[in-house]
Amino acid sequence: MSVLPHKLDQIAITVRSHRLLDRLLNENPILKEIMINARNETEALVGVRNWVMGELKKNPDAYKYYKREVQGREAFDKLGWKDYAAIRILDYVDNAGREFVDQNLRGELAISNPIHLIWLGTTFGTGGAKPSFFEDMLYVFRQFAGKLEREIPSRELVEEWMGRWCTGMDPRIIKLREENRERILKLIISKIDSGEIRDKKFFFEEGMSQEQKYFRCLEWWDDKLFHLRFAVRSPELLNEFLGNSLDPDTMKILYQAKEMGIPFFINPYYLSLIHVRVPYFAIGADLAIRYYVVYSQQLIEEYGHIVAWEKEDQVKPGKPNAAGWLLPSTHNIHRRYPEVAILIPDTMGRACGGLCASCQRMYDFQSGHLNFNLDKLKPTETWDEKLTRLIKYFEDDSQLRDILITGGDALMSSDKSLANILDKVYEMAMRKVEANKSRPEGEKYAEMLRVRLGTRLPVYLPQRITPELVELLRVFKEKATEIGIKQFIIQTHFESPMEVTPESHKSILMLNSAGWTVTNQLVFTAAASRRGHSSKLRAALNDIGVLNYYTFSVKGYMENNFNFATNERAVQEQIEEKVIGRIPEDYYEEIRKFPEDADNIVKNINGIRTKARIPFLGTDRNVLNLPGVGKSLSFRTIGITRYGRRILEFEYDSTRNHSPILHNMDKVIIIESKSIREYLQQLEDLGEESSEYQSIWGYSMGETEPRLPIYDYPNYDFEVTEKYTNLGV
Ligand code: SF4
Repeated sequence: MSVLPHKLDQIAITVRSHRLLDRLLNENPILKEIMINARNETEALVGVRNWVMGELKKNPDAYKYYKREVQGREAFDKLGWKDYAAIRILDYVDNAGREFVDQNLRGELAISNPIHLIWLGTTFGTGGAKPSFFEDMLYVFRQFAGKLEREIPSRELVEEWMGRWCTGMDPRIIKLREENRERILKLIISKIDSGEIRDKKFFFEEGMSQEQKYFRCLEWWDDKLFHLRFAVRSPELLNEFLGNSLDPDTMKILYQAKEMGIPFFINPYYLSLIHVRVPYFAIGADLAIRYYVVYSQQLIEEYGHIVAWEKEDQVKPGKPNAAGWLLPSTHNIHRRYPEVAILIPDTMGRACGGLCASCQRMYDFQSGHLNFNLDKLKPTETWDEKLTRLIKYFEDDSQLRDILITGGDALMSSDKSLANILDKVYEMAMRKVEANKSRPEGEKYAEMLRVRLGTRLPVYLPQRITPELVELLRVFKEKATEIGIKQFIIQTHFESPMEVTPESHKSILMLNSAGWTVTNQLVFTAAASRRGHSSKLRAALNDIGVLNYYTFSVKGYMENNFNFATNERAVQEQIEEKVIGRIPEDYYEEIRKFPEDADNIVKNINGIRTKARIPFLGTDRNVLNLPGVGKSLSFRTIGITRYGRRILEFEYDSTRNHSPILHNMDKVIIIESKSIREYLQQLEDLGEESSEYQSIWGYSMGETEPRLPIYDYPNYDFEVTEKYTNLGV
């Protein structure tokens, strides 16, 4: 049963909260005086406001930023560290008493009024605020008083952090994975021998020796179908394949997951990337992989109650989605921006090569809309007609110029299905060009410029990248180039430098050889957010010819609490670590041409790394994908719950085009699912020293980074109409 927020005001605070409150007041005599003398909450608020405002006004740039008279990266960069704190405290005061629906607590109301809570604690010893709340207060007032220093780490230090993480190309790691492969294959052999597994394609002929069987299995290892067929679908098998290395607590959670109906689907290749014996040189190196496979207690508790994050993806027939777009189907086309729409085919592409624990599609698995019944996901006969109708949507739209074919996973589709989709895209693009010939200047529709395939298979199942697929992609690129399509992108999802393996490397080389550029979207999970981890991945990806595109904060609510790294950490990572890969503007033009020479991308990337003396190309932007609004890291912390979970107010990314509906939309409020204290505690549990993250307390604001020109659409040599066709507003 939910407890009304005002009732919580009467709850006594704990001894630990008292101690922290005492420390807060003793460190800040002015605050103490305000709190002791205030006769009510209003006096406390006014007292704090006057005090902090007086300080903020000493920096006119910061004052203007607080008043929202200026915004953007340039204005943000003029803020001092102390200004961050002053603005946050004033935002707390301005938003005092506001109520927010907290989806982390299944829709309960959260009230933010931190000054009130400090006053209640001081005056009555009540308010129910937790130690993680008071600790956050302690740090914000320290920052305001100039006692919480921020020292931007040196490049040497960031490189030292990067050096903590191995890649899967390290010969010692390769050897370990070979051991893992051998263990897994021997298990599969024994299961085939015992009759536990029977298969029409993967079987042994009579009289084969164990050695022959093993060599046969090694051949199978290169076949994607083998990995799909032998993917682990239960906790028991997962543990068995991992050499019974999972501890009983983890197994208990996994059994519960199975009971709740959460699917398991982990193929032998991906399983071979997880350590069963941890070597001294790679302690904790596989955690970002492991926590993508092993479900958390919070996910189990929330499964069945997960709320959809992407409001614009919930479509009712004939009605515009949350971003205002009219769509031809409730499931197959997703759209947020004017220029691009996502196509999700009714093919095997609805599935993935695995199920990432923090995937937003857990919502659809929960409702039974998605599953891993791969045979049943094959396209039906009517799919072809439907595809024609879906593709026509792109043809008839005045602004669409970019199609992202994904799923699930675009490369889970068979070559035949994929070729069919690409053929239809090609024909549509050609018809768009033809139709434009009779339209006058200024009334022409956008023609197709970019085709993207969203896939994690270079990571989950690199065996899927075959010479046949490469040929298919090469041929498509060749003919599509002739009708004006200029960008051919494989958008993949590496999560850890340990996923960069000889197999995934080979798959990237093959994709590049087809003339396609590979970009990466990292999901910034708690394990991936450890110091140096993301930058090590950026460098490892550059080494194999992948350009970093986005670093996404984990979406979702309490179901993803375990994997969630706070947005404050995303800002800290951007400002303190990724910065060492900042590319001087002189090289922008050179990078923009990379896709024209995808085959030589490693050489070209290395050329700029050497000339600019940077360890990696920081081409990605750290963002959160907001419901309805798209990607942004422009936010201010305007509130905090009694549990110390921060409340962020996001604005959309003003540097890119949006649906006109956005101008009428409210700002987006995100209540984080864990406090900074909980996040730091989790890092400690992952073996980190939380003192290395100390400045995280002060990162209470962000501004979205500018997009690099390589990710811009090329210009047309004609003028596109300003008219919107499929807009329902
Ligand atoms: S590959 Fe992407 S869509 Fe598939 S399970 Fe992972 S996060 Fe979800």
